[in-house]
Amino acid sequence: MPTCRFCKSPLQHTLVDLGMSPLCESYLTAEQLNQMEPFYPLRVYVCENCFLVQLEEYVSPEAIFSEYAYFSSYADSWLQHAKNYTELMVERFGINPRSHVVELASNDGYLLQYFVQKGIPVLGVEPAANVAQSAIQKGVPTLVKFFGERVAREMLAEGKGADLLIGNNVLAQVPDLNDFVRSMNILLKPGGVITMEFPHLMKLVEGNQFDTIYHEHFSYFSLVAVERIFGFHSLKIFDAEELTTHGGSLRIYVSHQDDGTKPVRSRVTELREREVQSGLKSLNYYFSFGEKVKKTKRELLEFLINAKGERKSIAGYGAPGKGNTLLNYCGIRTDFLDYTVDRNPYKHGKFTPGTHIPIFPPDRIRETQPDLLFILPWNFKDEIMEQMSYIREWGGKFIVPIPEVTIL
Ligand SMILES: [Zn+2]
Repeated sequence: MPTCRFCKSPLQHTLVDLGMSPLCESYLTAEQLNQMEPFYPLRVYVCENCFLVQLEEYVSPEAIFSEYAYFSSYADSWLQHAKNYTELMVERFGINPRSHVVELASNDGYLLQYFVQKGIPVLGVEPAANVAQSAIQKGVPTLVKFFGERVAREMLAEGKGADLLIGNNVLAQVPDLNDFVRSMNILLKPGGVITMEFPHLMKLVEGNQFDTIYHEHFSYFSLVAVERIFGFHSLKIFDAEELTTHGGSLRIYVSHQDDGTKPVRSRVTELREREVQSGLKSLNYYFSFGEKVKKTKRELLEFLINAKGERKSIAGYGAPGKGNTLLNYCGIRTDFLDYTVDRNPYKHGKFTPGTHIPIFPPDRIRETQPDLLFILPWNFKDEIMEQMSYIREWGGKFIVPIPEVTIL
């Protein structure tokens, strides 16, 4: 029986079983379409002891993250988010040119570039060589490594401890959670601040966001679960902010346990109380989710079958990782979606994993004038509907699949 990644209790309760799926960032070339494709179980457990929601590690992080197709800088609203964050840190914690800012999983430098612009020394740590290269070209120094205790100690020995240690959407991707959090404690200077952002489990469940589950995300966190993990490693969550990014994220602010200068804000106690009231510390909360997901699949397929029955043409917008979980789980292929488009040139001419839907540049939409545009990265739906508003010229409409299928 698999055991909990944090507390090692046996995992015997299922949150949801999404069947077999390929790795969601493994886009295929035309030549690969005739070859075998690996599929892995996408079954999510909840730990009965610490309530950490998690997948087994079916694939090593080296296999997933060494070459990664996700470039953060292709989403405008995410860049704006990064810019606002930089201003906030400078203002609230006095981060200045004498500070040292480290970001774990710094991707293509989408965030650290704003600290560089202010003359603040930074260091990114990013295991995917292709995205790290793009950061270095932007002038963001980047270490191409997986973060862990050895790397933290090396950095510390070189005087590269962190006044501000950032991790956005990385905690979920860490297989050895205890090593990672312990290593953050090692790298954080006394008086320093860690901030981490990750999708909030409570929002995932409430918003039926099952498509944010994929093999690359090993863990899904509530405040109650994450507080326990950080506390175990002598780190204190002194503030927590609920953000709207990625369908609802948490940003936690963390210090050393013994840092007396950062009292715990009421937002932390208030959110913890709300999670307990909602039932996140009882197994029953987790058991209702699977049924809700199956119902969503039936309703989405019913909609698509009817639309095709009326001879409507449907194209996709976006080819994000989350799209691939949804497409594979629901069995949506070119029988429903003629093609999809993406702004990331890395994906052009490729095909979605498992479902083999061709990916084109966005101009294709204007050329073929589909009746319906199926928005896969629904967390950016406002931005996309604005960019693509010209589909109204030929009477086109948008489909948003989550939390339930909606036509706009
Ligand atoms: Zn556990």
